[in-house]
Amino acid sequence: MGHDTRVLLLGGTAQGRVLASALVQAGFAVTTSLAGRTRTPAPVPGNVRVGGFGGVAGLVTWLRDNKAQLIVNATHPFAAQMSANALAASQRLGLPLLRLSRPSWGERPDSSRWNWVPDHETAANVAASLKGTVFLAVGRQSLPHYFGIPNRVVARVADATGLAVPDDWVLVESRGPFSLASETEFFDTYGIAVLVAKDSGGPHAEAKLDVCTARGLDVVVVARPISAAVTETVYTIDDAVAWAKSHSQTAALVSDNIDRI
Ligand code: NAP
Repeated sequence: MGHDTRVLLLGGTAQGRVLASALVQAGFAVTTSLAGRTRTPAPVPGNVRVGGFGGVAGLVTWLRDNKAQLIVNATHPFAAQMSANALAASQRLGLPLLRLSRPSWGERPDSSRWNWVPDHETAANVAASLKGTVFLAVGRQSLPHYFGIPNRVVARVADATGLAVPDDWVLVESRGPFSLASETEFFDTYGIAVLVAKDSGGPHAEAKLDVCTARGLDVVVVARPISAAVTETVYTIDDAVAWAKSHSQTAALVSDNIDRI
């Protein structure tokens, strides 16, 4: 059991919610942190705090004030800034940090036929060179990179509140997870010819790639940001819980020392 070990769980993902539930059940005192980007976030077991910390310094202060003992970074694979801040704060305080991620879609056998690009600017250029309606599944924050492409565009976002896009774009608000059947219908409804996606990984958003492979459609995939330093990473909830349990005994010692740093 977690013996009330205090865990800061950086969330904002379905995986993070499942982990929060598993850790609470295992007896950990979990606080999930959300950035506050989603208007009505799905409920999460344990405590929840919302909003940025104010950089590394703010995160360090929060960890100290709340006597956190472990940090699990379960943010989205593209949340590079939060991940870098978590690493810096964990090093500053000597707190154990785990990254819970999802395997890259680059492990799929069909990934070798996709156009892999390093960033959204390149993705927009590649999409513009391809024919037909482009389906943008890149998240609302990345959409401005595509405002200039000449194609017909269908953009799907989890939350479209206050989002301004070019007049001729079709904006679809839908949160998923998406089944093969629902994605097939989506592609038919909008006559999709090209998919642009980020390498988010995991099963929840994978069906759109299955549709493209079945139909031989063009796929443009933005590769994950490369992190400067490597954090210990697991890909399953069970492994993350096992990590937390294995660190819960030494956690108290480390936490006691925080007050003196
Ligand atoms: P980011 O670029 O790495 O982070 C930007 C800033 O947002 C951070 O420096 C931090 O502000 C704040 N922040 C991010 N995640 C936070 C969290 N869990 N709790 C508190 N503050 C957080 O992150 P992002 O890509 O904008 O993602 C924001 C959130 O959306 C994350 O929770 C992520 O899991 C979720 N999400 C992201 C994507 C994506 O594609 N990027 C997709 C689905 C969900 P301060 O410096 O002030 O602390």
